[in-house]
Amino acid sequence: MKVATQILHTRIDNDGTLPAVTPIYCSSAFSADSPYFYTRKNNPNVAELEQVLATYENARHALAVTCGMSAIYMTLDLLRPGQTLVVNRYIYGCSYKLFQRMAERRGFTLVVLDLSEPENLALIPPTTALVLFETPTNPFLKTIDIRRVAEHVKAANPQALIVVDNTWATPLYQHPLEHGADLSLHSGTKYFSGHSDVMNGVLLSDRDELAEELRQTRFYGGMLLAPESAWLVRRSMQTFEIRMRAHRATTEAMLDLLKTLPQVARVYYPRIDGRQLTGYGGILFFSLRRDLTPYYQRFARSLRWFGTGTGMACVTSMVAQPYTGSHASMSPAEKAEMGLGEDLVRLCFGLEDPADLEADLRAAFAAIEAEAGAETPAEP
Ligand code: PLP
Repeated sequence: MKVATQILHTRIDNDGTLPAVTPIYCSSAFSADSPYFYTRKNNPNVAELEQVLATYENARHALAVTCGMSAIYMTLDLLRPGQTLVVNRYIYGCSYKLFQRMAERRGFTLVVLDLSEPENLALIPPTTALVLFETPTNPFLKTIDIRRVAEHVKAANPQALIVVDNTWATPLYQHPLEHGADLSLHSGTKYFSGHSDVMNGVLLSDRDELAEELRQTRFYGGMLLAPESAWLVRRSMQTFEIRMRAHRATTEAMLDLLKTLPQVARVYYPRIDGRQLTGYGGILFFSLRRDLTPYYQRFARSLRWFGTGTGMACVTSMVAQPYTGSHASMSPAEKAEMGLGEDLVRLCFGLEDPADLEADLRAAFAAIEAEAGAETPAEP
C-alpha cells in the first residue's frame, strides 16, 4: 500500500475517546449505515442542539436552521398560491418585507392586522391558511393572546396554522405550543447564541406531519444549521437560563429607572399575565420627550456601555433606533401606520453591572438635555 493511500484512509478509533463534550462533527458525509446520512439532512451537533431546544420549549420536534429568517421563510413556503396569510402589524421589519415579497411572488393574499386588539380578530378572513405573529411584539412589546387567536381562526378553518415568533419571550417565559400554536419559531441569533457571534434559527412543533414537511423543506432547500454553529449555540444554551435571569433583573431595574426620568415620554414593557407569558427580560423601548428626539444620535454616542450595532439580546448592552435600524426596510408610510417614529429607542440590557448602566443612561440623558437647552433661544 502506498503512503498516499494510507494517509487518505487514516482514522483513529472514535468509540474509545469518550470526550467530556460532543466534538464538532466536521463531516459532510457519514457511512451508508449512519442515521445522519449527509450533513444537509442531519448532523450530530444539530441533533444535540435540537434535543436541548425541544426540552426547553417542551416540544416534540425542534429543527435548527441557518437563521431566524430562514425559519420564517420555511413557514411561508407551506402556503400555496391563492391562500391567505394574516400577520400582525407590529413585527420585525425584515419579516414584514419577506411577507410582502413572498405574497407577491407566490400569489398569496397578505392581510395585516393589529392582533393585540381582540376586536380585530373578527377581521381575520375565515379562509385564512396561516397566521403569524410575534408576542411580545417588535416594536412596542404588545402581547397577543395565542389561544384566543388559535380558537378563533380554527373555528372557521380547522386546517389553518398558527405560528408564533417566540424570539423575544424565549422558551424560559413562554411556550406557544401549549397555548394552541402549531409552530413556534425563534431567531436563535438572539438569546440562544447570546454572545453576538453565531446566527441560527429554530422551528418547534408537536405535530409530526408538519415537522416532517419542514424537515423535507430544510433538506431540499439546504437550510440545516452548520455543525460549527450548532456546537457554539449548544454551548451557549448551557448558560441560557442564568443569562436570561440576569437580563430580566437588569431590565426590571432599568424599567423602574426610565419611568422616573423627565427626558422619557413613555416606556414600553409587555404585560406579563403569568399564564401565557410568565416573565420577561432583556429588551425595552422608550420614547424620547418630543423636544429631545432630534438628539437621538448624540444620546447613543454618549453611552459608554451600550453598543450601536444591529445585534441584540446578548451579553453586552445595545442601543438602537428602530426607525432607522430594525424597521429601515419599511416605507415611511408603513412605519407611520404602525406609529413608529424617530422618537422610539430600543435598549437591550446585557450582563454589565446595573449600577454602571444606570450611571451611563443618566449621563447620556443629561448630555442631550444640556445640548437641547443650549440650542433653545433664551426668552426675550
Ligand atoms: N424574528 C425576530 C423577532 C427578530 O427580531 C429577528 C431579527 O432581529 C428575526 C426574526 C430574524 O432573525 P435572524 O436575524 O436570525 O435571521
